[in-house]
Amino acid sequence: MDDLDYAAERAQVFTEAALQSVLGRMAGPPSTGVCRSCTDTIEAERLRANPKAKLCACCAAEEEHHRLRSHRCGPRS
Ligand SMILES: [Zn+2]
Repeated sequence: MDDLDYAAERAQVFTEAALQSVLGRMAGPPSTGVCRSCTDTIEAERLRANPKAKLCACCAAEEEHHRLRSHRCGPRS
């Protein structure tokens, strides 16, 4: 069954690629523990949840707010 072999091979390649991308992300540089935006220290609890956090909770919330706003159409809200 060539088709099955091909499908199995594709599935394996996909799995390996996904694994590599996860490993690559985990191998990235850890957070400095200092907020990139306000240079305040990032909360220990936040770093536990995301060892690579680059913003403190306050700035991250602000950035998320801006990101969500920029996705909406027009200056309505
Ligand atoms: Zn900050």
